[in-house]
Amino acid sequence: PSPLGPTPKLVIDLERLAQLPKEKAGALARYAATIQSQRGDYNGKVLSIRQEDLRSLAVIYDKSPSELTEELISWGVLDPEARRAVEAF
Ligand code: C2E
Ligand code: C2E
Ligand code: C2E
Repeated sequence: PSPLGPTPKLVIDLERLAQLPKEKAGALARYAATIQSQRGDYNGKVLSIRQEDLRSLAVIYDKSPSELTEELISWGVLDPEARRAVEAF
């Protein structure tokens, strides 16, 4: 086991996401809304997503998973802890 503990989850801050301009965050917002709808998980302040969903989002944003992670951290949508989740790829 890692000395830093288990691999952290990728947790999207939905309130922060809603404040961002659509040009930047529209694709992520639609993706998150689709997952919420599939789960029937509405009204959450955050949404835990699958590692494989970050890979799909990276393709959508034409970035590597680690580049997209840095962008989402800079937007305040992901916690900096998420870096460790992506290192495990
Ligand atoms: P599925 O992938 O066949 O998963 C069926 C159910 O197994 C899910 O129902 C959930 O109760 C459970 N499950 C599957 N994987 C996980 C997991 O990693 N963690 C947890 N806590 N439970 C898990 P649920 O939540 O109603 O989702 C229904 C369907 O919606 C899923 O069927 C999947 O097709 C889609 N879905 C939901 N959330 C996600 C997501 O984050 N990413 C993707 N790609 N699909 C999702
Ligand atoms: P956690 O994973 O640290 O999540 C803390 C709180 O963040 C959750 O409290 C919930 O309010 C929110 N949260 C995190 N991810 C989501 C999400 O995808 N949708 C929504 N609507 N809210 C989310 P909560 O629900 O009281 O859960 C407390 C703890 O119970 C969680 O801490 C986790 O350790 C465990 N837990 C809850 N649901 C699951 C699950 O589906 N799978 C696993 N493995 N653990 C779960
Ligand atoms: P979690 O529920 O704590 O699950 C942690 C990891 O355990 C998942 O990471 C996945 O690798 C594995 N896992 C848990 N349940 C299942 C399952 O039913 N089938 C399979 N094949 N693997 C499972 P992952 O995929 O990166 O997901 C991270 C977190 O995203 C999950 O943490 C959960 O909070 C959320 N999540 C992912 N998929 C679903 C889903 O379909 N429904 C719900 N409600 N939450 C999901």
